[in-house]
Formats: sequence, C-alpha cells, structure tokens
Amino acid sequence: MSQQKVIEEFRLGLLQWAEDNLRSFAWRETSDPYEILVAEILLQKTAAEKVEPIYNEVIETYPTITALAEADQNELAEIIYSLGFQNQRSQALITIGQTLRDTGIPADEAQLRDLPYVGQYAANATLCFAYGEPRPIVDENVVRVYNRIFGTELGYRDEEAWTLASLVLPQDDSRRFNLAILDFGATICAPKVPNCNSCFFTHSCNYYQSISQE
Ligand code: SF4
Repeated sequence: MSQQKVIEEFRLGLLQWAEDNLRSFAWRETSDPYEILVAEILLQKTAAEKVEPIYNEVIETYPTITALAEADQNELAEIIYSLGFQNQRSQALITIGQTLRDTGIPADEAQLRDLPYVGQYAANATLCFAYGEPRPIVDENVVRVYNRIFGTELGYRDEEAWTLASLVLPQDDSRRFNLAILDFGATICAPKVPNCNSCFFTHSCNYYQSISQE
C-alpha cells in the first residue's frame, strides 16, 4: 500500500476511534488561549493525569494573565512543586504573564516561540487548541506512533517527523485529530508494549506486520 493510502486510512481510522475514546481534561473544556498556554507549560515532560489538579489550582489562583503577571514566584512554585522544575516553570509563567499582560496571548507562531518554555510543540498546540489553526503536534508519544506505523526511526525534534505529522493532519478536523493522536499514543500504542489487540490499524502497521511474521 502506498504511503499516501496508509496516511489516509490512519487519519480516517483515528478520527473514528476518537469518537468514543478521547480522554477528558480541564484544559480540553476551554478555548481560552491563556488557560491553554498555561496547560501546555505545565504538561511539558509530565503526565496529564498528574497535571490536572495542579492546573486547576493554578487557574483558580491566577484566573487571568494579569493575576499571573503579579504572582509571587515562591507561591506559584509551591503550587506546581509536584510537577518538578518548579523554579524554572514558575519563572517562565510569570515572565509570560508580564510579557503578555497588555496584549493577551498572540495567535502568532514567532511571538509564541519567543516566550520562555514555549517550543514548536507548545506554540502549535496553542495555535490549534485555542485558535483553531491546523497545526501538527509532535512529542515522544506521537513520533512513536508514526515510527511504528511507517517503520521510521525519527526523533520528535526531527524536521521529517514534523513534515510527516503535517501530511497526516486533517486540515478540517485538526483539533480532534491532535487530541486523538495524544490519547492513542498514551493508551493504545503505548510506550513499552503497544496494545495491538485493541488497535484499529493492525492491517497496515509496519510494527505489527513485522512482529506477526516473527
Ligand atoms: S498495531 Fe500496535 S504498534 Fe501498530 S499502531 Fe496499532 S498499537 Fe501501535
């Protein structure tokens, strides 16, 4: 099967899978750019389940970007302590608040990437989840899924991985697709042992085909 055909089938299958399987998190219930950007800072290198209660407390304590700009760093660091990197993250959050207090969260990739703790992933996630732009997201979980399906050995920072993610992303349903690939990577195509018996894509997955032939 051609790569284009595999891409189209996976895209369709994942969107169907998403209908019954998306996880629910507080930051998925909002389209407020401030709340979404805060979530992306807290989610970096940290499991979503661990982040959710901390995220709720941060938003409750600092409900606006102005409140965040005026936060006491020690208090904020204490709230997010259990996520790790609390000093760096709290400093980044306060700097973001102070930088954007008068302008709000920009719908602009370059401006987002100028912010501390905001790389390509966090910028694209903010543009997609807050502003509805069809932007791909690639982290370790996402690239693992693509590597298994396509038989590649890409890293999540590789330009090729981002190009592939752009090709797979549906332009008209990017938010749902991006949420779905995150959840699929966390629950089905899991890090150590993928749960292939529950997967809709065994028929065209490079990894599954190779272990089936062993
Ligand atoms: S068949 Fe297995 S390895 Fe392939 S995408 Fe599905 S869960 Fe991942």
